[in-house]
Amino acid sequence: MLNIVLFGPPGAGKGTQSELLIAKYNFKHLSTGDIFRANIKNETELGKLAKSYMDHGKLVPDEVTIQMLEAEVNKANSTVGYIFDGFPRTKAQAHALDAFLATKNTSITLMLALEVQEPELRTRLAERAKTSGRPDDAEPSVIQKRIDVYNNETMPVKAYYQTQNKYIGVDGIGTVDAVFNRLIEPLSKLEV
Ligand code: ADP
Repeated sequence: MLNIVLFGPPGAGKGTQSELLIAKYNFKHLSTGDIFRANIKNETELGKLAKSYMDHGKLVPDEVTIQMLEAEVNKANSTVGYIFDGFPRTKAQAHALDAFLATKNTSITLMLALEVQEPELRTRLAERAKTSGRPDDAEPSVIQKRIDVYNNETMPVKAYYQTQNKYIGVDGIGTVDAVFNRLIEPLSKLEV
């Protein structure tokens, strides 16, 4: 099994690249943002709770997010492996993920990180706001909050995987195909 954490700030291209990775490798895609948005659409209790955080650019509390993620992994039951997109976003989530995967006799293979600088992120998110219909893309102050949350709460997750020798940073600037080719280079060296 191959389990990838696709990492990067809001607007780095995680969703786009996940789709290409799935098409090539048959991974099961688990995007916590997508799962929360599906819950919001279906007006579930979880959706109502998540929305109250997401609309302000804040993280949904760890306990809720971890529990949801574990339930989704159990439901998916993949034998190929998973792409974790937007998770883990805090060190507590990273610890929980390691412990949970260990109970399944598997582990994170690599963290692939899309590296994109802040001015470019702001431009991309403003552009995405025109079509995404996402309230958290529409408001510049919410975009800034998400970037701040990323820098303060999510960046430490990078060091967590670096100490495990699992971190690979990839330049996220360029065409979708160019970035994809950079992402799959380290994967081509593994057996999949
Ligand atoms: P982006 O990467 O563009 O910010 P996502 O769809 O990954 O978009 O996340 C949107 C929002 O969903 C986040 O701002 C946050 O409120 C919530 N969210 C997603 N993943 C997590 C997570 N792992 N922990 C806490 N909140 C999360």
